[in-house]
Amino acid sequence: MLRFRVLLRTACGWSQRMCFRTEEGFHRYFQLHRIKVMGLFHSFCAIFLLCLIGFMFVYELCYVLPQITDPHGIWHKLGWFMGIYTVLNVLGNWCLGFMTNTSVDGLLLERQYPVAGEAHLWHYCSTCQKLVPPRSWHCRLCNICILKRDHHCTFFASCIGHTNQRYFLAFLFHLSFGSGQALVYNGILNWTNKAFLVTDPLLLISQDTTQDADFNWKYTIANLFKLNLFLFVAPLFMFVFQMVMVYRNSTCYKMLDRSYDVGWRRNFDMVLGKRRFWIFFLPTIASPLPTDGTQWLQKQTV
Ligand SMILES: [Zn+2]
Ligand SMILES: [Zn+2]
Repeated sequence: MLRFRVLLRTACGWSQRMCFRTEEGFHRYFQLHRIKVMGLFHSFCAIFLLCLIGFMFVYELCYVLPQITDPHGIWHKLGWFMGIYTVLNVLGNWCLGFMTNTSVDGLLLERQYPVAGEAHLWHYCSTCQKLVPPRSWHCRLCNICILKRDHHCTFFASCIGHTNQRYFLAFLFHLSFGSGQALVYNGILNWTNKAFLVTDPLLLISQDTTQDADFNWKYTIANLFKLNLFLFVAPLFMFVFQMVMVYRNSTCYKMLDRSYDVGWRRNFDMVLGKRRFWIFFLPTIASPLPTDGTQWLQKQTV
C-alpha cells in the first residue's frame, strides 16, 4: 500500500512537471514565433470562413432554392440576386477591412507627432518607443499601435480600429443578412418536408428510424438548419454589440469609457463617416471620416 502511494505521488509529480514544462515551452515558443503562429492561425480562420461561406452559398442557391421556388419564377431570380449581392458585400468588406491600415504608422508623417498644446493628451508606448495619439493602443499580435483600437480580429487578420471599423460593421451586417436569408430558405425546406421532427432527441430514441426512407436526408437538412441558425445568431449578436459600442462611442478595449460620447449622430459619424448608413450598401462607397484618429472630441468639451 505504501509502495503504491509513493508510486502515485511520483507519477503525479512527474506529470505536473511535464505539464508545467509543456506549458512553459509552448509559451516560450509562442513568444519566439508569435508572427509565424498567428500567421498560421489567421490563415486557418480565413480558409475556414471562406469554405463555410462557399458551402452555404452553393447549398442554398443550387440545392435549396430550386426546391422551394419555381426555377423560372421571380422569387428564384431574386434569391440568386440577393445571394450574390450579399456574398460580394461580405467579401468586399472583408478584403477592404484587411487592407486598410489603421495603425499610427499609417498616418501622414507630420500627423505622427502631437500639434502644439496637445502633447499632454498623447501617451507613451514603451514598445513602439514613441508618443501615440489618445485612444491608440498597442496590439501585441500586430506589434504596432492602432488608432482608436477596438479589438484584434482573427478573421480580418488585423486589428479593428479607427479607419477599418466601418468595413467590420458592414461585414457583420451582410454576414447576418445572408445567414438570415438562408435561414428562411432552410426553414421552408424543413417545414414542408417535416424534417424538424426528425432531429428531436425523444423521437430519435422512440422511433424506428428504418421506417422512414428519407430519414438520412431529413436528418442532414435539419442539422444544416441548426448550423445555419448558429451562423445567423453569432454575427448578429456581434453586430448589435458593435452598434451599441458605436452608439456610445466606446470600444471593446475600453467598454465602460464614455468620455468620448458626444451624441449618437456624431458618434456614428466618427465610425461610418460622412455618408453614414449608405456604407452598408456597397463597400466601395467613399465616406470620409471627420478625424484622422489623432484628435477626439470629449464629452465635457461639447
Ligand atoms: Zn505601440
Ligand atoms: Zn492586432
